[in-house]
Amino acid sequence: MPLWQKMMIGLARSASVTRLMQESRYMGRFARRFVGGRDGDEGLARARALRERGLSASLFYLGEYVADPAEIEATRRALSGVAQGLGQAGLDVHLSVDPTQLGAMISWDACRGNVAALARDVAENGRGGRDVLMLDMEDSSVTEPTLDLYHTLRAEGLPVAVTVQAYLHRTEGDLARLVADGARVRLVKGAFAEPGRVAVTGRAERDEAYRRAIVTLLSPEARERGVYPVFGTHDHRMAAFAEHVAQVNGWQRDRWEVEMLLGVRPAWQRELADRGVSVRLYLPFGRDWWPYSIRRVGENPANLGFVFRSMASG
Ligand code: FAD
Repeated sequence: MPLWQKMMIGLARSASVTRLMQESRYMGRFARRFVGGRDGDEGLARARALRERGLSASLFYLGEYVADPAEIEATRRALSGVAQGLGQAGLDVHLSVDPTQLGAMISWDACRGNVAALARDVAENGRGGRDVLMLDMEDSSVTEPTLDLYHTLRAEGLPVAVTVQAYLHRTEGDLARLVADGARVRLVKGAFAEPGRVAVTGRAERDEAYRRAIVTLLSPEARERGVYPVFGTHDHRMAAFAEHVAQVNGWQRDRWEVEMLLGVRPAWQRELADRGVSVRLYLPFGRDWWPYSIRRVGENPANLGFVFRSMASG
């Protein structure tokens, strides 16, 4: 990992810097680039503004690996508030959740109860078929229970979707089952430092695995079974490959999409949407905006200029 990125992760983990920044007036332009708002209402308002520009949203309440029951309950309530606002908003929204923010650190039974209740909120308030609860995929110690959770809720007829990581050796088998199920699947490269027995570790191998998974998710069989692929990537080569495979295999434009993080490569997001590709933006919201935002700067030093400009203008 480059030194620059290590420094930014250090800033993200520092409790004193986090407190200082989150209490300061810099939430302003800096955080608004990467974060949808301080609460669910602001997040939904931002999703509505994006919709007017032809972009869909995926709302995520900031926080992960939560073990404090009070914090888990606060997360559940914030997400439930958003789910209940979906109907009024008339949006095409994914509600993204990490199982470890909804009880998995305590027990998977507790987590299942919380996620099922949220999925029911989405089913009751959302627009059938388009608004869904998307399970994010965390480190490999929770891959199996996260997929089990998806399959259980799906069997109950709830509107759920799941993320798979191309770098895991097991993903080919997982995708075969998800394709047979006609699932809504978000494909990402994978963000955790996994050992070689679990995942490919080189960049080129990871990209190759991602391309193979694109071919599986955009196969004629997947189309016939009603699979809805979401390609979570900022890599223009992967998006171009997906566009090519989709065209060759006769996929309609509104049956698959590309999802990116809010604020990352905004000009390219616009370009793709203008070309007719369905684009969704991952829109985190909540009070804990600093660690998330500064990590994005760590991934791309070009964002530093933006930080200074934001601070200068408040
Ligand atoms: P990279 O491999 O980082 O970059 C490839 C190339 O793309 C670069 O060489 C460059 O040419 C171009 N590029 C990328 N970023 C930029 C940039 N900022 N500016 C200019 N060019 C750029 N991971 C998980 O493990 N679990 C999850 O649940 C999960 N959910 C995600 C949801 C979404 C919507 C997204 C976008 C990512 C998610 N991730 C998740 C992270 C993912 O696994 C990758 O770690 C991350 O997206 C980096 O891979 P990449 O495909 O974006 O491109």
